Amino acid sequence: TRPVVAVVGRPNVGKSTLVNRILGRREAVVQDTPGVTRDRVSYDANWAGREFVLVDTGGWIAKAEGMSAHIAEQAEMAIQLADAVLFVVDAKVGLTDEDEAVVKVLRRSGKPVVLAANKVDDERVEAEASSLWQLGLGEPYPVSALHGRGSGDLLDALVKVL
Ligand code: GDP
Ligand code: MG
Repeated sequence: TRPVVAVVGRPNVGKSTLVNRILGRREAVVQDTPGVTRDRVSYDANWAGREFVLVDTGGWIAKAEGMSAHIAEQAEMAIQLADAVLFVVDAKVGLTDEDEAVVKVLRRSGKPVVLAANKVDDERVEAEASSLWQLGLGEPYPVSALHGRGSGDLLDALVKVL
């Protein structure tokens, strides 16, 4: 059976955009308003001959309440059900408390994690991506989900842990 990859990260970091980039088509809903993808949505994907299931999740909100709690629950559930996690951070914004909250859950899960430093649309943001080594999740892969920059290296790293 195909391994399952959960795409997690706080709202608006570009998870759905990255999912579409990997799929090569616009299927996941991208919105300028955070928190639009409320539930887990699965897609069949492949890279370098390796097939896997990609699960787009709603964003992650620390100390969440109401609808946000539901989103966080879905993301945590997605991690539990996944074989590997694609953790997406916004390199332009840098780390936030919400990111740290996800990292805690990722550490607890013991699942293999590939770290995507998204919104690195050009080399000027590359230094920001390097600072993500401090998370202790291994190499941060700078990508632009919007333009496709770096997505090949990210996917190579992802299929290696599957
Ligand atoms: P999600 O909430 O994590 O699923 O984020 P979305 O995929 O819905 O994207 C949120 C916003 O970030 C949208 O306006 C996207 O167009 C934008 N975005 C996503 N990826 C990139 C990127 O690589 N570069 C830039 N500049 N914007 C991006
Ligand atoms: Mg989304």
